[in-house]
Amino acid sequence: MNADIGNEILRLKEKGLSKLCVEESLEKIAALTLEINKLKKEKKAVIAAHVYQRPEIILGTADFVGDSYKLAKDCVGVDAEIIVFCGVNFMAETAKILNPKKRVFIPRKDAGCSLSDSIKAEDVRNLKKNYPSAPVVTYINTSADVKAESDVIVTSSNAEKILRKIFEKNKQVIFIPDKYMGKNLADKLNKKIGTDIILWDGSCVVHEKFDPEIISDYRKKYPDMMVMAHSECPSEIIKKVDFMGSTSDMLKQIENTNASHYMLITECGLGELAAVKYPNKKFIAMCRLCPYMKMITLENIKDTLLNLKSENEIFVEESVASKAKKSIEKMFEFAE
Ligand code: SF4
Repeated sequence: MNADIGNEILRLKEKGLSKLCVEESLEKIAALTLEINKLKKEKKAVIAAHVYQRPEIILGTADFVGDSYKLAKDCVGVDAEIIVFCGVNFMAETAKILNPKKRVFIPRKDAGCSLSDSIKAEDVRNLKKNYPSAPVVTYINTSADVKAESDVIVTSSNAEKILRKIFEKNKQVIFIPDKYMGKNLADKLNKKIGTDIILWDGSCVVHEKFDPEIISDYRKKYPDMMVMAHSECPSEIIKKVDFMGSTSDMLKQIENTNASHYMLITECGLGELAAVKYPNKKFIAMCRLCPYMKMITLENIKDTLLNLKSENEIFVEESVASKAKKSIEKMFEFAE
């Protein structure tokens, strides 16, 4: 093993990666992270990584880590010529919309999202025809075309706040595309589905499949545990948890509380990150892997940076991007 790789292994261990990877895999990981970080400097690139990404990507290569809202903000005016987005397609599109002059790449363009894939621009136009006076409030997990047809974008961390503001001036709102998040928000705001809030039939393949009974079983074993769930989960889960929110909200809760154990009902990446960030707290595994998020690997990040191929580059038509940008900026305005 050469000295550079040895030093890189030490750096990765200091970041906490050895808690999440077997010792034998560290040499291979270190060779890749070394090369990726060298390529980043050569190509004046930054890497933005969603919290659901693999730990070796987050701890070894990322310049920005966060949920959709944080990454959208971090990407505004970033000081780099290239952004490599490690997440799913709609996130890379959002980065491109907010940075039209920069080149944005995604290591796998086919990294989709069941929520984003559930709705097209034409569906939104039809909803608007049916409910002409209702503003369209759209979860960020949607394509640029759908964002362009929307009035305001929301993320799981600001949806409640923004909806409250919108309901001050409107009786009816179209909320797309996540039916579970829409139902959870309607319950919180005491609004009726079908009259106050019009929903779309979209759902997240990861968050819709948790079993609420498992929570009760674990509560018997760990009565002081705190259970947190992402707001993309169905209400049968939400009714049984202590806290519902975005991934950043959940991390804040862990930081500010002292439960005996924490159960995070979301994609597995968050639990891994939490275990590294809070080594003295105890976590109970109750997670599922997102097949789209996990398409991104160190190998395909390296290839993307090395070759900068058009098959990995994100392009958004100017007319769509300018309309989508307005609805994203409206979110920043409402959320601040
Ligand atoms: S976890 Fe669900 S919402 Fe997030 S990218 Fe995967 S499929 Fe989409």
